[in-house]
Formats: sequence, structure tokens, C-alpha cells
Amino acid sequence: MTERIAIVGGGTGGTVLANKLADDLADEIDAGDVEVALVTASPDHVYKPLFLYVAFGRREADQARRPIRELLDRRVTLHVALVTDVDVDDRRLTREDGATLDYDYLALATGANVAPEDVPGLAEGGHHYYAPEAAESLRDALASFEGGRLVLSVVGMPHMCPVAPLEFAFIADAWFRERGRRDEVELVYTYPSERVHSLDAIADWASPRMAERSIERETPFELQELDPDEQVAVGTDGTELPYDLFVTIPPHQGDELIVRSGLGDDGWIDVDQHTLEYPGAEGVFAFGDTADLPTSKAGSAAHYEAGVVADRIASLVRDETPTATYSGKTMCFIETGTDEATFVSFEYGEQPTLREPSRTVHWAKLAYNESYWLTARGLL
Ligand SMILES: Cc1cc2nc3c(=O)[nH]c(=O)nc-3n(C[C@H](O)[C@H](O)[C@H](O)COP(=O)(O)OP(=O)(O)OC[C@H]3O[C@@H](n4cnc5c(N)ncnc54)[C@H](O)[C@@H]3O)c2cc1C
Repeated sequence: MTERIAIVGGGTGGTVLANKLADDLADEIDAGDVEVALVTASPDHVYKPLFLYVAFGRREADQARRPIRELLDRRVTLHVALVTDVDVDDRRLTREDGATLDYDYLALATGANVAPEDVPGLAEGGHHYYAPEAAESLRDALASFEGGRLVLSVVGMPHMCPVAPLEFAFIADAWFRERGRRDEVELVYTYPSERVHSLDAIADWASPRMAERSIERETPFELQELDPDEQVAVGTDGTELPYDLFVTIPPHQGDELIVRSGLGDDGWIDVDQHTLEYPGAEGVFAFGDTADLPTSKAGSAAHYEAGVVADRIASLVRDETPTATYSGKTMCFIETGTDEATFVSFEYGEQPTLREPSRTVHWAKLAYNESYWLTARGLL
């Protein structure tokens, strides 16, 4: 009997997983003993980290997307369709067009979405760079910004790429300096906790650098409402922050499929942090941003997790005992200006060590952005 493996979500995690399974189980797939199907809502794969560069006019949004078929091993069957229901008891997916897909093993990698509309006034008055059109709109706003108070406010927790707000603040500082306009811009960074980042080591490293660059901080600040007419951000404690340009990391939520299917509140799925197995049903895994894990919602984490899920599913298909486990490994570059960067690497429960920023690491990040497409294909 053919063993059917279904993957929902063709982002970083789902694509890496599909290609790794196609490679690991090539003989079984060629013999007709195993099928790997990837179901994803869009015909394009999107590389979200480029949006940061789009906001500063250094990349175009189109460069962040490629047809997913081009990135997938030929052994993977692609279904471009929105999945509207997951029935883990009957082991069945339902698509938006009513078609169903039965599976023996399921991996959910439906990612995270932004929801600026969750905070009054934020969608109308705030800019962000967490989606392609929004990043383009922010680029235009930055290009025409005549000076004043630019507030970068982290609202959504958890959010994708925990270091991205720091990167924005450091790049904005350098970007205005390069244009000889830094003294016309007051840069303010807000974070919903006392520190400027959720990891102490990163907060300790970033705070003095922000002070050196005259990036003011307002912490803790939890946005309750944005008043675009008065250009004031109001915090839950009544603090009022006037602004001329408001940039936010908006609230995040998982895909509504997860909530609708009863797999997790807010779209985040509880899984075993080492095996990535969903405890509510056999043969079901969730990983990447949709998994509720004590690590970053980052592409690198999704990538490492995909390797573990692939190993475990391949073992199960072969009636072997799965032994691969995820250690929480995450690796993130941190741009600290327009031509320097550092990076962090850590596992569950660890605090990262930060090195002095350098041009070499900045170029390594740009090189990674180019080679990402090979990584997604499983070639690197
Ligand atoms: C501005 C920005 C900068 C970032 N920078 C970095 C960085 O420097 N380094 C880093 O490691 N990470 C970074 N990230 C985070 C990284 O992009 C994500 O963590 C990563 O994409 C997560 O992969 P994923 O597979 O879990 O989800 P995604 O890549 O978001 O993919 C989810 C997929 O699921 C599909 N899908 C969702 N619901 C359904 C459904 N119901 N039916 C069918 N398909 C569905 C979607 O269409 C999508 O294809 C950044 C993110 C942003 C927004």
C-alpha cells in the first residue's frame, strides 16, 4: 500500500521538508510505495526577509517571490489550493474547492500572518514591512519623509524574526546619516517589555549601540490605539507618543485553518519541542512559525525543524524508530547599519554570544539572500 505524506504550506519550512523527503525517500517514491504531496495556497514561494530591504529601496518586492514549482523536486506532487479543514481523526484535508486529500502522515507549516487591524487605528495610520505591498508603501513614505519623529513600535509578540525591529532601527539610523539628514529625524524605538529585546544577551548588546546612535527608547510600551488624525500613539498605561511616521511590527496570528480545525488557539499549534509531533493525533507534525515553540519564529529555525520532521517521517515510513530531534537551533543575521552586520546562533535555553559587527557578515547576509533559493531546493 502506498504511504501518503501531505505537507500544508509552501513557505520555507514546507518547501525544505518536501525536497528533503523527496531526496530521502527517492527510491520508495520511484517504486510507487510513497507519495509526497505539498498543498499550498499560492503558486509562488515568498522569501520574506527581503521585505526589510524593500523598505529601504534596496530590493524590489518581486525579487522575493518565485514559482514554487521551480523550487520543488519533480517527485513532489504540488496542489495549489487553500486548505480549509484538517481532520486529524479521519486523516483528511479539505480544500477550498471541496476536493479532499487523504494522508497517512501530515506536516503543517502554515506560517504566521500579520493582523494590524487588531489594534484600533494601526491599519489606517501605521506602516510596516512584514508584507510586500506594505514594505513598498513604507519605502515611499521613507523616501518622502520630510523629517520629524519616526517611531518604530513593536506591537506583535510573538512576531516573525525577533531581531528584525532592531535591524530596522539600525538601518534607518545609517540610511538617514548617508543622506545627511539624520539630525532632522528623531528615531524612537518602543518594545512591550522593559528591555529592547526578549533575549537578554541581545538586549544587553543592542541597548548601548542604540544610545550611541541616538536612537531613543520607550520601554515598556504596549500600544493600545493609534490616532492617525492627531498623530499620537496611545499606550495601555495612557502614555501618549506623538509621531510623524509610525512604523510597526504588527500583531501576529497563525493561519485561521489551525483555529478552525481545532488544532490551536490563535493559530499556534502546541507540539513536542524536540520531536515536533502534535500530541493530539498520530503521524501529525507542525513546525516553522505555526508551531508554538520556545524559539524564534525564524526561517532558519523552520529550516532546521524541517530536517528533523523529514528524518522522523522517513523513519516511520520505513517502520524504523525515529531518533532525530530538534535542539532549538536558530541562526539569525542582524544588520547593524547599511554596510555591517553581526549574527547570533543559539539553541533552546541558551543566550547567544554577539560578535562585533563587520562588513564581512553583512556581505554574508546579502550572499545568503541570493543563495536562499538553492537552500529552499535542498541544494545547499
Ligand atoms: C520582514 C521579515 C524579515 C525576516 N527576516 C528573517 C531573517 O533575517 N532570518 C530568518 O531566519 N527569518 C526571517 N524572517 C522570518 C521567516 O520569513 C519566517 O520565519 C519563515 O518564513 C517561516 O517559515 P514557515 O514555512 O513556517 O512559514 P511561511 O514561510 O510563512 O510559509 C507559510 C506557507 O503556508 C501557506 N499557507 C498558509 N495557510 C494555508 C492554507 N490554509 N492552505 C494552504 N497553504 C497555506 C502560505 O501561503 C505560505 O506559503 C523574516 C520575516 C519577515 C516578515
